[in-house]
Amino acid sequence: MDRLKDKVALITGGSQGLGAEMAKRFKEEGAKVVSLDLKAPTEADVDFFELNVTDSEKVNAVIAEVFEKYGKIDILVNNAGITADALLNKMTDDQWDRVINVNLKGVFNVTRAVSPHMIEQGTGSVINISSVVGEYGNIGQSNYAATKAGVIGLTYTWAKEFTRKGAQVRTNCIAPGYINTSILDTVPEKIIQSMKDTNPMKRLGEPIEIANAALFLASDEASYVNGQVLGVNGGMRL
Ligand code: NAD
Repeated sequence: MDRLKDKVALITGGSQGLGAEMAKRFKEEGAKVVSLDLKAPTEADVDFFELNVTDSEKVNAVIAEVFEKYGKIDILVNNAGITADALLNKMTDDQWDRVINVNLKGVFNVTRAVSPHMIEQGTGSVINISSVVGEYGNIGQSNYAATKAGVIGLTYTWAKEFTRKGAQVRTNCIAPGYINTSILDTVPEKIIQSMKDTNPMKRLGEPIEIANAALFLASDEASYVNGQVLGVNGGMRL
């Protein structure tokens, strides 16, 4: 269908998992979708630019190339993210730095390069992917929680900053609960079961449920939604 007809959408980490599901869903709705990722898409038939979001010079060069090729950028989903879990007293500098660099600095790098194009064109939608862990914390995830809380702060800031001269450039955030992707591969089965048992809906979320939320925020149906954090978590904290 046509909810994103002729829109150009960039998705970091769009080659796998939630990013690939969003890429497929956006494409079904008529968008031209580009995955910016370390590796080529395997799950979605979309355009691809190889990019490490931590490399700010390369980010600037790739975004310039994307803009040159497509002529505009309507939607940016800051989705690329990693984990490197450890209890605080066992967390190494390397674990801290890697997660901060991808999940927080990467979001900064890409949005800094993309937002001037959106502001210049006067419209755009930026969607940051946070997590329930950024809202409520989680044992063994100091680094990850800091980054996911950080992108909520960036969301509020950009919702004000990108619109300050009247541009209709919206910034919103999705905070997924525990979703059935390979990011959970390292989580023990006992913990997965307790994630299900403690959720009012008694199950994990599915990637399509995040993709549909992102589709809403990306589309013109959300034209007055700005600076919001949309929890998609089955009601896990109620
Ligand atoms: P995933 O590991 O399946 O996919 C992540 C993608 O990001 C991969 O394609 C990977 O190659 C890419 N990537 C990683 N580092 C990159 C870098 N430096 N530069 C460019 N691309 C890079 O993860 P997922 O489960 O699909 O998670 C996607 C996002 O959703 C992440 O930000 C994650 O923190 C968030 N999230 C996931 C869950 C969940 O339960 N799956 C819950 C809450 C939030």
